[in-house]
This record gives sequence, C-alpha cells and structure tokens, in this order.
Amino acid sequence: MSALLESYAAGRWFRAAGDGAPLLDAATGEEVARISSRGLDVGAMVRHAREAGGPALRSLTFHERAALLKALAKHLVERKDELYALSVRTGATARDTMVDVDGGFGTLFSYASKGVRELPNDTVFLDGGLERLGKGGTFVGQHLYTSRPGVAVQINAFNFPVWGMLEKLAPAFLAGLPTIVKPASQTAYLTELAVRQIIASGILPEGTLQLVAGGAGALLDELTIQDSVAFTGSAHTAGILRRHPNVLDGGVVLGVEADSLNCSILGPDVRPEDPEFDLFVKGVVTEMTVKAGQKCTAIRRVLVPETVAGQVVEALAARLEKVAVGDPRDPDVRMGPLASLGQRDEVRKAVEALRSSAEVAFSGAAPADGERGAFMAPLVLRARSGAAEPHDVEPFGPVATVLAYDGVESAIALAARGRGSLVASLATHDPEVARSVVLGLAPWHGRVLVLDRDDAKESTGHGSPLPTLVHGGPGRAGGGEELGGVRGVLHHMQRTAVQGSPDQLTAITGRWTTGAARAQSDVHPFRKSLAELRVGDTIASARRTVSLADIDHFAEFTGDTFYAHTDAEAAARNPLFGGIVAHGYLVVSLAAGLFVDPAPGPVLANFGVDALRFLTPVKAGDAIDVTLTVKQITPRGGADYGEVRWDALVTNQDGQTVATYDVLTLVAKTWPGA
Ligand code: NAP
Repeated sequence: MSALLESYAAGRWFRAAGDGAPLLDAATGEEVARISSRGLDVGAMVRHAREAGGPALRSLTFHERAALLKALAKHLVERKDELYALSVRTGATARDTMVDVDGGFGTLFSYASKGVRELPNDTVFLDGGLERLGKGGTFVGQHLYTSRPGVAVQINAFNFPVWGMLEKLAPAFLAGLPTIVKPASQTAYLTELAVRQIIASGILPEGTLQLVAGGAGALLDELTIQDSVAFTGSAHTAGILRRHPNVLDGGVVLGVEADSLNCSILGPDVRPEDPEFDLFVKGVVTEMTVKAGQKCTAIRRVLVPETVAGQVVEALAARLEKVAVGDPRDPDVRMGPLASLGQRDEVRKAVEALRSSAEVAFSGAAPADGERGAFMAPLVLRARSGAAEPHDVEPFGPVATVLAYDGVESAIALAARGRGSLVASLATHDPEVARSVVLGLAPWHGRVLVLDRDDAKESTGHGSPLPTLVHGGPGRAGGGEELGGVRGVLHHMQRTAVQGSPDQLTAITGRWTTGAARAQSDVHPFRKSLAELRVGDTIASARRTVSLADIDHFAEFTGDTFYAHTDAEAAARNPLFGGIVAHGYLVVSLAAGLFVDPAPGPVLANFGVDALRFLTPVKAGDAIDVTLTVKQITPRGGADYGEVRWDALVTNQDGQTVATYDVLTLVAKTWPGA
C-alpha cells in the first residue's frame, strides 16, 4: 500500500487513523498515495493560526513579509525537479506542470516585488488621500487598511495543486493572514510535497501555513467573523459553502471562483487569410489541450461569424489532429489524461448533454487503453442555432463548442448567456470592433483579452491568470476576485475610515498629515540620515522674488516659449492669467533652489515628484517661499538607504498656496558626517 498523506497541523505532521482512500495515477491507474483527514483536530489548527501564525505575521511589516515570500520562491525554485517528477502522476505534461509549478513561483515573486514597491514598510496601508472634513483644517479623515486577526482558509480545485495554493497564499501572507490550505483530494499529494518543502525551509513563521490532507471536516464550523474562505471548485460545492451557517450568519467572508463557460470571439472583421484568424484558432487549440482542458479559464464556447464557421472548424481540426494524446511521461505527448477516471465520466456526461443541441464536428484520437488511464480525445462540437446547452454545461476537459453569431451585438449577447465568466478573448484588428465588443463583454467578465498581430508575440494567452491582473468573474463564475496585484492583498484586509485631528492622524498612520505640527530644527533636514530624520521635520526657506528676467531666461533656456510666459498682449487675454506668468516648472525649480542643502550629505537622489498641482499663478514681482516637511520615511530592506517623501508647500507673499507636491528622495540610512 502506498503512503498516507499527512496534514500539517498546529506545528506538526499529523497522520490520520486508518488506511485512507487511494489516489490513482491519472495515466497508469497505479496508486500514488492514500488520503484521509480522520481524527484531524481542525479546531486546534484554527487556534494555532490565530494564536501563533497571525501574531508572528502581523509583527512584520509588508516589506518583511515580501522578503519572506521572495526567499520562499527562491527556495522552491531550487526544488522544482521533485515537484515536476510527481506532477506527471496528475496527468500533467511538462507544459502543464510549468503552468502549475512555475506559474505558482512566478506569483510568489510577483507579490514579493509588489509588496516592496507598492506597499509601505509598515503594517498599515493608507487608501487614497486625506479628506478635509472641516473648514479650519483641524478635522480630517483618512481611509486605511489593517490586517484582520483571523485566518484565511483556502479550498482548492484539483487542477492546480501548486499554483492554486501559492496564488492564494501570497496575497493573504502579505495581508498578515495565516493560511490553512485544503487542496482537492485527487491531486493533494503534489500540494503536500510543496507544503513539506515550505515547512522544511523554516522560512515562513510557524503557524502561517497549515495543510489539511483529506476532507475539510468541521473546518468551517471553527471560523468566525475575522476569518475568510477562498474557494475554487464547482458551483455545486460553492453552493454548499454559501449555505454554511457561519457564512450566512456568522460573518465569515467567502470568495468563490467557480466554473465558467468562457468564450473566445473571432471578430467580424477577420478573414481566413488574416493573421488574427490563425491566432484565434491557435488560442482555442491551446486552451483545449493545456491540462487537457481542465482549466477554469479554458475556452468552452467558440463564437464565430456564420460565414466562416466551416473554415474555423476545419482549421481547428487540422491543428487538433496533430495533438498526440497519451502518457505525459512520453516526450512526444502533447496532451495528457484527465485527472481521474471519475473526471472523465463527468466530462462524458457533459458531452452527452451538449450533444442534444450540437453535432460532433471533430473528434481526435486517444490511446485505446483508456479504461486504466483517464485519456480523452479532443472534441469540437458545432451547436445548432439557438442551442441552450453550450451556455449552461461545462465540460471540464478537452471539449469546445463552435457557435455562429450574426453581428457584434449577437456575439455579445451569446457571450452574456454564459451568465458571467472568468475570461473572454476577442481576435480582431479593428479598433472599433475591439471597443464595442470589449465594452459589451466587460460587465460579464473578470478579464478580457484582445488578440491581434501586434500583441500576439508577447501575449500570455487567453487562459493564463496573471498575478498583476484580477482573476475571478461575476455571476456563474462565482463573483469572487483574486490577484490583481495589491488589490488581492487588500481583499484580505479591513478598510476603515479614521477621523480626527491632523496630529492624531499623523500618529496613527505614521505619515505626516497636512495641518499637523511641524518640527523646525537648526539642522537642515538634508543633513540628517534616515536614522535621524523624523516625520514632521521641517525646513522653511527664505523668500525669493520672481522677476520678468527670470521668466524670460527660463523660456529661452528651456525652449518653453508658450505665450502665457512670453507674449504680454496675448497673455493679458488669457482668462486664467490676465498677463505674463511664471512657468510652473520654473516655480518648482526655484523652490528646489530654495530648499536644497547643496553639499554632499545623506540625501542621495531625487527620484520624482508626486501629486504636483499649480494652484495660484506667479507673476513677475511675486515672491515665493517653500516649506518642506518629512511626510513619510520608508527604509528599504537589504539596502543602505530608504525613501523619504517630503511635503512641499510653495506660497506667495500674500500667503496664498502657489503649488503643492510631494518630493521623493533616497536618503542614506546612516551618514558619517552627520
Ligand atoms: P469540487 O468538487 O467542487 O472540489 C473543490 C474543492 O472543494 C476540493 O478541495 C474539495 O475537496 C472541496 N470540497 C468538496 N466538498 C466540500 C465540502 N462539503 N466542504 C468543504 N470542501 C469541500 O471541484 P473540483 O472537481 O475539484 O474542480 C473542478 C471545478 O472547479 C470545475 O467546475 C472548474 O470550473 C472549477 N474551477 C474553477 C476555477 C476558478 O478559478 N474559477 C479554477 C479551477 C477549477 P475534496 O477534493 O477532498 O472533495
């Protein structure tokens, strides 16, 4: 008998009582492992996550969490051969495994990078700008996100045992939530191996990742208001979870990624000789054959203009004929078996249902030894006009149905009959078709790909969810949303509107807030290293008069001779200026001249400005000064400098605000001369 998979629970590997259920190799039918969660104390797992994992994670800043994700990704990359070797038993070819395993690593790397670049080196994320709530500026509001003191449970489908876990783990981890992963039993041995590699690395704080191998048992009964469940799987199971009392009444947040009848549309402008025709056909074939069509994002409905439907079917057949189906251990094989005989039965049932309104347009070849391995030949169906089944039945395998449409509106209407999908693609080279179809599809989809000769080479394809783009879809697709860069992190956090005085908000957010106290010191803040600088440190500059000669000089020197700076008569007629005004960039440049401390020091570079606004024009003879205040200090892990964001306020002789902006600099963590 093969080994029983173990759960990782409350800091140790747990072996269930009994023999467990067998898990079979998708191609050979041999037993790979056994699985059971009998006797697993899921309550202890949830407590461990809350009491050990959560606090350990939340004691780290976003940047520290991101650094751990990066270290983890590197660790796993070094061990990927083991994962590849085992993945073949799920029926995956090397190409399929790349999507699952390397796709998972890519997601970790992407989140590690986003965590550093787009999140602060803090535990609080500020959402949007300050809202002034009173005339005097003493009462302001700020939205912020904080980590929930809960646990993120992920329940995954069988088709992506590694990516499925990592794409959910990365954003939750950055958000400060410990994870309990429950993979689908059928392919849980691959997830178990990945979790063993992760736990053995010691990189993640204990309690931040636990594994349920086998049934979920009473896991959802243990969850409460700060907890969440991210589910990927069938609409049927989603329905069961949605009806769980803790979801219905207990405040547990449930995110669902369920089945989806994704479509790909051939634009009405595309002729068979156009490159888009071939790209379209290639895309459909790829989606039918990668993972043997067992992808939530695979193309199930192929929408084509009536006039070219026959040619599309022929082109699909010509490509599919060449797809060798068989044991993925054979390097010539392009498409492996389905994950199990049970899955194949499901797909056959779905095909039977589809056949009631569709004919077989092409059927490929699969190994005859099909009763041990779950092989299935690629199948193209052609639906009769008005058929309902293709918009309702999901064959989770290498099956697609061609449907003819008549005009852009009819294509959009057919797409919408899927009642909400994860992704749609459109092959067109016509920008007008692209706009009308995409805007018609968008309310029904989480992602839309427009494929043409210009982006084809770099396109990641119809079926690939990307860490930087949202994954999820409305309606039938579950209504959930994952990934999408930082959006995926924020889904796991609580947004709160905080109201108070500028000083209180500065203390709470760690970011200097307009109206809060400033600390003037004798030492110019540009002479202070990151270790010495404090939020609120301020320099108020001397005043400088802006002369007409300054404006002329700047115009001539830069070549910016826009009439408002050079032509007194024309400028007088300008309704906003009523005469010659200084260039906005002259104002910013003069302001820099007023606040910089020129000698070499801890300020290493200016890397940009944010939110620059010119509010009052500066005329010849006006005098300006600038107040520069440390707004935010962000040390960079692994570097000997960090970022300092300065609030810059330029005012004129009457106290009017001329310009506001944030100056972004890099400042050394320490400076010998300071
Ligand atoms: P499934 O049968 O719904 O199983 C999904 C997960 O739910 C498995 O981990 C399963 O565990 C678990 N589960 C089943 N009953 C449960 C219960 N009562 N309480 C808690 N957990 C329970 O789906 P599947 O057959 O694995 O996956 C195929 C489906 O997933 C397809 O319809 C496909 O479209 C969809 N899918 C969607 C996405 C997406 O991102 N939208 C991605 C991939 C797949 P056991 O395996 O232990 O039963």
